[in-house]
Parts: sequence; C-alpha cells; structure tokens
Amino acid sequence: KAKTPYFITEAKEMHDLIKPRKKFAHKGMFGHGLLVAGSYGMGGAALLASKACLRSGIGLLTVHTPVCNHDLVQAYVPEAIVQDDVHDRYFAEAADLDNFQAVAIGPGLGQDEVTVQALFDQISNCYIPLVLDADALNIFSNYRNYLTRIPRHSILTPHVKELERIIGRCSNGFERLSKAKELAAYLQCYIVLKGAWTAVITPDGETYFNPTGNPGMATAGSGDVLTGIILSLLSQGYTQEEACRLGVYVHGLAGDIACQQKGVISMTSGDIIEALPEAWKQLT
Ligand code: AMP
Ligand code: MG
Repeated sequence: KAKTPYFITEAKEMHDLIKPRKKFAHKGMFGHGLLVAGSYGMGGAALLASKACLRSGIGLLTVHTPVCNHDLVQAYVPEAIVQDDVHDRYFAEAADLDNFQAVAIGPGLGQDEVTVQALFDQISNCYIPLVLDADALNIFSNYRNYLTRIPRHSILTPHVKELERIIGRCSNGFERLSKAKELAAYLQCYIVLKGAWTAVITPDGETYFNPTGNPGMATAGSGDVLTGIILSLLSQGYTQEEACRLGVYVHGLAGDIACQQKGVISMTSGDIIEALPEAWKQLT
C-alpha cells in the first residue's frame, strides 16, 4: 500500500524523538563531531556552526580550520577542540575521521583549488555520517562528475540557489522539488532544501515540510547554524532522517523565538543560536 510521500512535521513527533538524558550520562555518550569549516575572512561561519552544535547537546566538538582561524575559534568557542589544517588560509588537507561519530563540511570553506582536492579526499574516505553544506556543495556544482562519489545517506543542505547550481535553473517550486527528489534518489542521499517550508527529502522520496521559521532568518549565517545543529544530532546517534527533521524544526523554532525578541528586521543568526536553549526547552 503506497503511503502519501508528503508530510508536515509536527511538534509532538519531534518531542517524542528527543532522547532523554539519564542521571549517570557522561559526555562520551553524546558523540564527538568534526566540523570542517572556515577560510580566510570566513572564520565567522565556523564560529556560528560550532556554537550551534554545542548548544544542541553534542558531547565533544572538534573544529578543523585553517591556521588563520585557530585563535578565533579557541577564543570564541572555548568548548571546542581546534584542529589546525596544514594551510594558513584554506582547507587543504582531509582530516582523519577515526574517533568521530559524524562530520560536517562546508560553512565558510571557500572554493580554492586546494580545497577542491581536500574535499574530494575527505568524502571519498568518509565512513561516518556526513553533512555537506555551502561551499562544499558549490564545489560539486563545478565538478558534477564527482557527485556520485558522495557516500550514500549523506545529508546535503542547499538553499535554492545552491541546489539550482547543481541541478540547473527551475521555473517554479514544483519543478525544483521534483528535481531535488530525483537527485536524492540518484545519490541515495538526504536533501534539505532550505527556505520557507524547508523540505527534508529522503532517498526513498518521502518529503517532510517544516512549519517553523520566518523571513527574519533570511540573514547571513542562518544556514551555518543549521549545519551545526544537524552535526550535533548525528554525533549523538540520531538517524539521518531524525537529524534532518529535528534539526530543521528546532532551528526554525529558535528563529521564531529570536524573531519575537529581536524582530524580523534586526534578528541575526547569532540571535538564533542564543534562542536555541529556549527552543530545546520548549521541545523537550
Ligand atoms: P543559508 O541561506 O544557507 O544561510 O540558510 C538560510 C536558513 O534560514 C535556512 O535554514 C532557511 O530555511 C532559513 N530561512 C531563510 N529564509 C527563510 C524564510 N523566509 N522562512 C523560513 N526560513 C528561512
Ligand atoms: Mg548557507
């Protein structure tokens, strides 16, 4: 019996997904995530993603970033471990993935030649859950032959433009959604198509529309915050589908709280991070 492939995510479902913490819990039980982010002049993306990640329950976070961002991450995110890339300004050498439960690559990465190679090295040996965002996706739009090297069940988090750079221009939302579903099926990946009513598309073609969020989130760094949240959830052992749906939902809810406090015009992506504690409390 075929079930409807379209759903709207509801608060109750998300509430029921959240794993309760046991009295004797320790940080080893909540995973160690790796964030590959930042380049010269784009260190802020690494900061936003890592702060959001740490506000979403991860046990430990390591940030792999070019040397130029070392002090920045140490100073602004003291909870994170910083792993220096070999390069001063760009991601140039794939990180060792042993001892991490999940990895996210992309915020503020840039698209330098050295980064293109490092990205392909990183994903071809990737045996843990993977999130690709921002410039990691933009690089693939210039090297579409390499798309099939993305490991099955990876999560891609494009906004409309990033998606269309990969699949080509679409004339309307229906065409875009159906082409995104084809891509998800072809790559056997999860696609989080961001914007109002973000669509989480599974490899099997199910689509979950997200009801939270507002146009105040159309601001620099909002997507980096989402990437950090999804990395956090994957590291804690949530499945790809759970991490996408719960991550997108709580990100939008935090955006709605930030909007109430700061207003649709003034809210920034940093405000979304600051609203995450309240959003998680409301959901739990
Ligand atoms: P990015 O473009 O990568 O910074 O991502 C923007 C983030 O903000 C995504 O998670 C979008 O879903 C969210 N966002 C942007 N505009 C809106 C909107 N009009 N309504 C709801 N969410 C939005
Ligand atoms: Mg983005």
